[in-house]
Amino acid sequence: MAQPRVLVVGGGLAGLAATMRLAELGVGVDLVSLVPVKRSHSVCAQGGINSVNALTRQQGDNEWKHFDDTVYGGDFLQHQPPVKEMADWGPRIVDLMDRLGVPFNRTPEGFRDQRRFGGTLYKRTAFAGATTGQQLLYALDEQVRRREVEGRVKKWEFWDFLAPVLDDAGRCRGAICQDLVTMQFRAFPADAVVLATGGNGLIYGRSTMSMVCTGSAVSRAYRAGAWYGNGEFIQVHPTAIPGADKLRLMSESARGEGGRVWVPRKPQDPRDPRDIPEAERYYFLEDRYPKYGNLVPRDIATREIFDICTTDGLSVEKDRLCVYLDLTHIPRETLDRKLGGILEIYEKFQGVDPRSMPMKIFPAVHYSMGGLWVDYERSASGGMVEGSPRNQQTNIPGLYAIGECDYQYHGANRLGANSLLSCIFSGLFVAPTLAAVAGSPGPAGSRLFESVLRREEDRHRDLLSRTSGTENPYDLHQELGALMTRVATVVRRNDQLESAYGEVCVLEERWRRCAVSDTGNWTNQNVVFTKAVGDMFPVAKLILKGALLRDECRGAHFKPAFAVPGITATDPEGKRREAQAWCDRFEANTRKWLKSTIATCGPAGTPEIGYQDVDTSLIPPRPRLYGLVGADVIEEVWKERQSQATGGAAGGARMAAAAT
Ligand SMILES: Cc1cc2nc3c(=O)[nH]c(=O)nc-3n(C[C@H](O)[C@H](O)[C@H](O)COP(=O)(O)OP(=O)(O)OC[C@H]3O[C@@H](n4cnc5c(N)ncnc54)[C@H](O)[C@@H]3O)c2cc1C
Repeated sequence: MAQPRVLVVGGGLAGLAATMRLAELGVGVDLVSLVPVKRSHSVCAQGGINSVNALTRQQGDNEWKHFDDTVYGGDFLQHQPPVKEMADWGPRIVDLMDRLGVPFNRTPEGFRDQRRFGGTLYKRTAFAGATTGQQLLYALDEQVRRREVEGRVKKWEFWDFLAPVLDDAGRCRGAICQDLVTMQFRAFPADAVVLATGGNGLIYGRSTMSMVCTGSAVSRAYRAGAWYGNGEFIQVHPTAIPGADKLRLMSESARGEGGRVWVPRKPQDPRDPRDIPEAERYYFLEDRYPKYGNLVPRDIATREIFDICTTDGLSVEKDRLCVYLDLTHIPRETLDRKLGGILEIYEKFQGVDPRSMPMKIFPAVHYSMGGLWVDYERSASGGMVEGSPRNQQTNIPGLYAIGECDYQYHGANRLGANSLLSCIFSGLFVAPTLAAVAGSPGPAGSRLFESVLRREEDRHRDLLSRTSGTENPYDLHQELGALMTRVATVVRRNDQLESAYGEVCVLEERWRRCAVSDTGNWTNQNVVFTKAVGDMFPVAKLILKGALLRDECRGAHFKPAFAVPGITATDPEGKRREAQAWCDRFEANTRKWLKSTIATCGPAGTPEIGYQDVDTSLIPPRPRLYGLVGADVIEEVWKERQSQATGGAAGGARMAAAAT
């Protein structure tokens, strides 16, 4: 009998975690990656990884609260069992990474140090300075190398996944990939294929993501029939350094260590920020959200920063939107020990020392909550059944997705430091599923692979022959990025989304007339990028269409036309009346829109949008206010309603506990 074999595409945290555990389970792995796995985007992750631990437990934290923070942060758009399972695994995962040698920061007593991240009141984030992703990635890489030496893993670095190969019954039997050095094509038969190919920020041109995050692999799977979930939910991180070439993240850990966001009360105050007295500074996040302060979830912090600059006109600079992120009150030694990695980035690209001068920052595209739709099997205890063939499987049997490229864990908004957890968790958790599948009736014969391989070769040849085309792929990419950033980030309007959809179709048409300047067949990056740009259009279209159709505000998706106004009355009776109306609208909106968007690729690449109910059976949805000043009356009215609905005091106490 043939040895069981799985093809893992992507060597970031998700792909390496899956590979490590598959090898442990005795399954052979082909690991394909566009870049050397140690250069995967995960290496850029800065701030940390979430999990409950002994120290947070002493403060009253537990796995259920981590789960609750995550679904509340995600505006309840995630199926809850996978999120619960992930939160339950958190402590085990961080312990495992510790044992694998990750140099997590320690307290003087030798415990793992923890910092606070957005959307929680607990210090639940373990970190290795401000280079946590790098340390985690290198630890997993070492384990995979060990298995490589044993012969269980074969790495294919600088290879591009081009297409899944499906048999006549629609089951994925492997994939076609291309060597980016020799430009040769190769078929990879496999018992199962798992995509761990990360996010797609490059669709927005400039973002905080690495330049390989084009989303090409996911787009190719989507065009082969895989569903795409919640595409319109794109995270814009509140604090990044604007740059002409790219946007560089200033991690949430800066605020987790006490960094404060502010603007001068006087618009464009020309003074050195250090000379502006406290009374003349506006710490708007702390003022508006005293409970969470600078650590409200990202969607909220981003909108507030955007608003203070655009609506209130309080941007620090006149010609460039930005606010101050201030660390200057924190001792230098602490900053160097805990945030050294990111402070060096600011110093290098801005030429200013953030230890002594407030940084100037503005929101930037950062993360894709949406991704390939994947399944799960719910366990009796409300989590997931380990080893179930459904876990992380796309709608194409035999094709799986894990890490940032799946849509499963973060709903409408991801909480900081939850992605590294979801990547490692989904990688570890999918392995027993794949091990069970591997070794089932073997892959179909070579005829199947031949036809897809020929098709991809023909496409490649066609691109190389387009020397007289009139369009430049790099220009088209910039146009696409500027358009998407303008209409599908912080604030969305239907008229703009609709016309942008038409403009993307025109760009896609123009792409068909692209010329490649390099026609060689050796390390031809020009043709690889041109293909990747072509792959961005189908995903851009599903993002725009999903956003256009979703007439509500949820997490990162904000349409002013459908925002529910806050309380304006000043007398107690008026406030209660408005709060009742607010809660009525919240309930109606939940009934109508608490659904995952599912895009399927129709003929000619047109996205067809459907919806799927969300399993919210463990924690009922509630208004997401984060202690906003003036909104306490809404919380009061909401709790009363829940108390009545769940049978008086007992129900009320349960809700109150969940909401703390
Ligand atoms: C600057 C920054 C800092 C962050 N900091 C944090 C943090 O502190 N905590 C946190 O929880 N999250 C953080 N995140 C998010 C987190 O880093 C990512 O979500 C996560 O690392 C994604 O991991 P992944 O394994 O899914 O994909 P990646 O690490 O992106 O890996 C993708 C892999 O797929 C391969 N690949 C892609 N396309 C193809 C193709 N066509 N063919 C073959 N291979 C392909 C790539 O080569 C790569 O190996 C941060 C994000 C950014 C942008």
